[in-house]
Parts: sequence; structure tokens; C-alpha cells
Amino acid sequence: MMNKNKDQADSGNRGQLMLDAARRGASYLKDVSGRRVAPGPAAIAALERLRGPLPEQPAHADDVLALLDEFGSPATVANAGGRFFGFVNGGAVPASLAANVLAAAWDQNAALRVMSPVGAVLEEVALGWVRQLLGLPPETAGSLVTGATMANAACLVAARHALLERKGWDVEARGLFGAPEFTVVVGEEAHASLKKAMAFVGLGRERAHVVPADSQGRMRPADFPRLKEPALVCLQAGNVNTGAFDPAAELCRLAHESESWVHVDGAFGLWAACAPERKHLAAGFADGDSWATDGHKWLNVPYDCGLAFVREGSALRNALSLEAAYLAASSAREPMHWTPESSRRARGIEVWAAIKSMGAAGLADLVERTCRHAQRFAHALGDAGYEILNEVVINQVMVSFGSDEATRAVIAAIQQDGTCWCGGTVWHGRTAMRISVSSWATTDADVELSIAAMLRAAREVGGSR
Ligand SMILES: *Cc1c(COP(=O)(O)O)cnc(C)c1O
Repeated sequence: MMNKNKDQADSGNRGQLMLDAARRGASYLKDVSGRRVAPGPAAIAALERLRGPLPEQPAHADDVLALLDEFGSPATVANAGGRFFGFVNGGAVPASLAANVLAAAWDQNAALRVMSPVGAVLEEVALGWVRQLLGLPPETAGSLVTGATMANAACLVAARHALLERKGWDVEARGLFGAPEFTVVVGEEAHASLKKAMAFVGLGRERAHVVPADSQGRMRPADFPRLKEPALVCLQAGNVNTGAFDPAAELCRLAHESESWVHVDGAFGLWAACAPERKHLAAGFADGDSWATDGHKWLNVPYDCGLAFVREGSALRNALSLEAAYLAASSAREPMHWTPESSRRARGIEVWAAIKSMGAAGLADLVERTCRHAQRFAHALGDAGYEILNEVVINQVMVSFGSDEATRAVIAAIQQDGTCWCGGTVWHGRTAMRISVSSWATTDADVELSIAAMLRAAREVGGSR
């Protein structure tokens, strides 16, 4: 027999805890725009308080939460504010953040439909909506994974399946040992995570044919190889440094002449298709055969969320389904048969909530607005005499503050100042600062504050040299 009183006390406590967590989260969000973007050294040093020997005895959950808030919250990066411009980190739009909190209470395992009917349905709806938003062919199948790295991997194993099946080789049964070979083609500026995915699905990091890129990192069609047999051709929609897009229509045509499989890494760039004024950049990519993208970048859903889409859905399913007597499936779509994972969180919930709340119009506005912010950065820094290294076509800006040394010093000064946060990169041999405007939360005022901080840092570094 269960102890009824204890049971009630526990569930009452759980409700209080949820409210306490929500209250702390709300208070965090209220202050996040006023604090420095990257935590200062004191906050990082105080993380030591979260270490300690293995706890031998239980602690009150209230105290556990209070400790996390006291020492954890100050040591976060203010991704939830509007002035984090590092990498390509989006924020979380309010509806998707709130859905994430509710989903935490639900604690669903979205492996199978019987484990989570709501997870299975929202995943289907979310995949369908994203497919439409990105302008992908209606027959396209998809799945939700942790990010674009895994989405690339899922697409690559689908491509691997299809290309080898055509040669009479069952790669899932026999592996790549002794398999017929096929060529893999990538652009010179392919994202490092695509190469990582190639490495771990057995296609090799260094075996690919590399097509030279132009000044913006776009594959040059004139240098595209003459393919005699079906190959795997990997295109990119949105270079992580410049934001540039491979000329997809032409490259897809060239690749399909040899019946090659065209995979598109469009982690953030594919979302340009949502905004009327940027749509032309994403033109032609729908002619591909598979597409990897992120939910946690431009769509602004919480981590972790990536999406893999494959036109020939059976290739994805055949590459990733599994069989076990106790996992007997229904005839409906079973999420786990389309992904590398089995047990998994129900990512469709937040994707559904984000799109439901913004609608196509709101998403178009988010994409367009962040691109406009990027333009504003480029103009302001350019007008101040600093060199913008890329054609700013979407939300990515690269700026040089003079010598590599000066640029590195300005980046360090900006990070130290804390008003905003930008990282560095090396583009065609030159050190640059990257500004990636990827969050719904960035306002005009955030952009102006950040420009002022950047110019201040640049002047200080210039003055001290
Ligand atoms: C960010 C990015 C990736 C990797 O995405 P994750 O979500 O970090 O796994 C892959 N390709 C491109 C072009 C990217 O910008």
C-alpha cells in the first residue's frame, strides 16, 4: 500500500518546486538584459561551490534548486538577452520556452507513439510545417535530432543507404567493409561539423573531392568535377562566416546529370526561404535530395534541436529503423525509426509552439529583422573606418579592426567589457570578428548599445597600441 499522506506531501512539494523554478527563471529573464553578457571571473570562480565530494546523503530539492540558482545563474552566458552575437546561437521565443517548461513536467519519451502520443503527433506536425516553411518537396520525410551535426549524419546515412543499394550492397547489414566505393564531393568552405559527420558515418574526412570556393565561400560551379557515376554531393546554404549560399540550382543540375545524391547543409541559411526579401538566396536548394538544418539557431527554439529531411523517405527509414520484439510498432509513423536515437526528448513540442506562436509571418519578420540588424552593424562599423570582410547577405558580419593583432585585441576588449559578446574567426588568412544576429530578442537599442561598445573598444585598443 502506498502511504497516502506521504504521496500527497511529495506531490504538493513538487508543485511548489515547479513554481519556485518558474519564479527563479522569470527573475533571471527579467535581469538578463541588464547584466554583462559573458559572466565575469568572480561568477566563474564561484562555480567551485557546485563541486564537492559525492553527496552521501539526500538534500532537500528546494536547497538543490537554490544552490543552482545562486551559483549557476550568474555563470551563464546571457543567450536569452539580445546582445549575444557569438557563433550562430539563437534565443528561445517565449512560446517555445514556456512549452519547454511544460514539456519538462510531462517528461515524455518520444521514441514510440505509445510512449507519447502527444510527442508523436507534434513531431509530425512540426516536421510538416518546417518542410513547408523551407519550401522542400511535399513527399519529403524527416526527423528531429539534436542539432545540424546529427541532422547531417542522419542525411548522410540515408544517402549512403540509397547509393549503395543501387550498387546491390546492403550497407546496414554488411557495413562499409568491402563495399563498392562512391565519390563524395564537398565545397572548400564546408562546415567542420559536416566533415565530422562524414568521419563518423564512415565516409572519411579526407577522402572527399573538394571543390574550390570563391571569395564568399561559395562553391565554384566551373570547378565542379565531371562525375561519371552517382556520387554524394554536399552543398551549403549559409556559410557560418559569410552567410553565403552555394549556387544551388546550377550545382543540383550538374550533380543530377550523374544521378548523384545532393545533400544540403543548411543549418541556419535554409531559413532565409521564410523571408520574402531573402528567399532568392535559398532558391534551388529544394532540388536537393536531403537537407540538414537547426531548430535552435534561426527558428529560436531551446537547445537541443536539429531537423533532417530526406526526399526519398524510405532511405532514411531503412538506414535508421530497428527491430526488437518488445518495441513492436504500430502502422503509424514511429519517431524512433527515423532517427539515430531511440529514447529521446520530444523536441516537436517546442518547434510546434514556436511556429504556432509566430506563424509564417512572424518567422519572416524574425529572419528579416535579424538580417537588418546585421546590415546596421556592417554600416556603422564600415562608416567608422573598419573593414567589413564579407558581403552581408543575411545575418552574418565579419569585421577587421586592422591587423590580426588589433582585431584580436578588440575582440578581447569587447568580451571583457560585457555589453555584448562576439567571437573571432580566420577568413582567408585574416583574423576577423564575427557578428551573428540570430536571436528574436535583439532590439534596435541592443544593436546601438553594442555598436557603441565595439567602437569604444576599437578606439581604446587603437589608442593603446
Ligand atoms: C551550426 C552549423 C552546423 C552544426 O550545427 P549544430 O547544431 O551545432 O550541430 C553545421 N553546419 C552549419 C553550416 C552550421 O552553421
